[in-house]
Amino acid sequence: MAKGNISVDSENLFPIIKKWLYSDKDIFLRELVSNACDAVTKHKTIVLSGEAEAEDAYKICVTVDKAGKKLIISDNGIGMTAEEIDKYINQIAFSGATEFLEKYKDENDDSSQIIGHFGLGFYSAFMVSDSVEIDSLSYREGAVAAKWVCDGSMEFDMSEGARDTRGTTITLNIAEDSTEFLEEFKIREILRKYCAFLPVEIYLENADKPVDDKKEEDDKKEEEAPKPINTTYPLWMKKPSECTDEEYKEFYRDVFMDFNEPLFWIHLNVDYPFNLKGILYFPKINHEFSGIEGQIKLFNNQVFVADNVKEVIPEFLMLLKGVIDCPELPLNVSRSFLQNDGYVQKVASHITRKVADKLTSLYKNDTENYTKYWEDINIFVKYGCIRDEKFYDKVKTALIYKDLDGKYKTLEDLTEGKENAEIYYVSDQTQQSQYINMFKEQGLNAVILPAVMDTHFISFIEMKEQKVKFKRIDSALSDISESVLDDDNSKALTELFKSELNDDTLKIEVQSLKNNAVPAVILLSEESRRMQEMYKSYGQQFAGMASMFNDEFTLVINANNELVKKLPSLDDDTKKLVVNHIYDLSKISHSPLNAEQMSKFISRSNELLMKLI
Ligand code: ADP
Repeated sequence: MAKGNISVDSENLFPIIKKWLYSDKDIFLRELVSNACDAVTKHKTIVLSGEAEAEDAYKICVTVDKAGKKLIISDNGIGMTAEEIDKYINQIAFSGATEFLEKYKDENDDSSQIIGHFGLGFYSAFMVSDSVEIDSLSYREGAVAAKWVCDGSMEFDMSEGARDTRGTTITLNIAEDSTEFLEEFKIREILRKYCAFLPVEIYLENADKPVDDKKEEDDKKEEEAPKPINTTYPLWMKKPSECTDEEYKEFYRDVFMDFNEPLFWIHLNVDYPFNLKGILYFPKINHEFSGIEGQIKLFNNQVFVADNVKEVIPEFLMLLKGVIDCPELPLNVSRSFLQNDGYVQKVASHITRKVADKLTSLYKNDTENYTKYWEDINIFVKYGCIRDEKFYDKVKTALIYKDLDGKYKTLEDLTEGKENAEIYYVSDQTQQSQYINMFKEQGLNAVILPAVMDTHFISFIEMKEQKVKFKRIDSALSDISESVLDDDNSKALTELFKSELNDDTLKIEVQSLKNNAVPAVILLSEESRRMQEMYKSYGQQFAGMASMFNDEFTLVINANNELVKKLPSLDDDTKKLVVNHIYDLSKISHSPLNAEQMSKFISRSNELLMKLI
């Protein structure tokens, strides 16, 4: 038996790493199973080169032995000789771990700094084990089985082993503080999370199941073969031309547990200038924000790394659901490094371009469906435009606006090539229905932009397309009014309203509106409303600033309305009631009344009804 010392400087390496990685112990299994997978892949390559015999069933077994307090990972890959264990484990794996620690111990004490701790490799087994054993038989002819044992004290034993089939078995003697890893369900959960798409079949076995039980079960299931816990050839690895719609939908259901069908998807399949595969789905969303909870799973060679790694995937794409496999990502580096890495930036901008291409081609070639999807995807697309101007430049021809007739138009349709075009919009179809009716009567149109995002979006569009200006439908009457009046009659009307409403500061205008059924409307200029909204969005401490714009509105009295015309001839009592009521009605069709205003409105309505009898 050979004894040796692992050549690292610090004797305290184990406890430091153990503690430091405490938060994410699960990854040890990913590391060991990926190693097993690599060992199989290496053997496959050797077979292809003709240096070894073909193997019909490559597999990896993970065995939970709760009674024996062991977790065993076994593969029939390439195997290792004693010399190779010395080289790859004693020298490389351990020095790799030292290097890893040296590199990161100065960074702040946040283990999430390194995405999933890739690069820690075999060493991570010690996070959960008192001691680790390797039993291996190399594929090489005449190879002798090797056994390596290490209890984490920086010393190891190497001896001849007993394994008689090609491959490697890693046995972890699970430590007292890590007994959760002796639970089958826990191991299954980790394997499903990280290894669900590894390219070699993985079987989970339980050594503790009494043989009799097993037999009975076997009888029940007759000759049902055990199933691997993974899919070895995930959909994203296939060529897009080989995948059916049904497969895409099924994959979506399985991976994201979302039983609403996705609207459409993009299959990314890039070989040059970098390697990138993946599928991005546009989920069906019905409510702004509440329903938008994307999930982008990042893989590295079919091994799951993490969800929503914002350094790699453009932020706005996080509203989508999908998988991205970047085999060349430098994952053993810190997040701040990733952010500034040229490769990562190229990947991100490639994904952005692909998404924009898909949207524009859908719009061009399948307008009907595209407009159907718009309700679900518009928030995502608009958010993307605001976050990333390059994305905007690419999708701008596919940005559409729904008008009052439910038809979709582009900005070009709406401006009709005019300089300084003004586009009216509606943010709340119920609240603004009075204005909508007046608009429609005059054959005018507006677009519907109801989302919170739209407020930001229209400011963005105005900034980018300087000849366009958006105006809410209740901010100007120029298109539905014949004229603004300033004669003696109007002056008298203005005075009447001011005195009856007991408000000298109220801004009043008399106009002759094309619609004569409406006695009065409220106007709030676009600028004032935007200022008000901006201050509101800043939060409570700006509420005062926001309320400064509350009184910025103008009450427009319609000189064409019969009731208005008759006002001067009414008795004083009725006049007061009617003026106040006209004012309230105009307010109601602009924005909701507060509690006090509402109760006054109701009691006055009753009073007016009484006058009818
Ligand atoms: P990495 O996998 O990043 O190279 P590891 O520390 O995980 O680092 O492993 C070190 C080396 O040990 C591997 O590169 C491989 O050569 C060898 N090795 C680890 N596990 C196995 C295995 N199950 N079968 C064969 N070789 C292995």
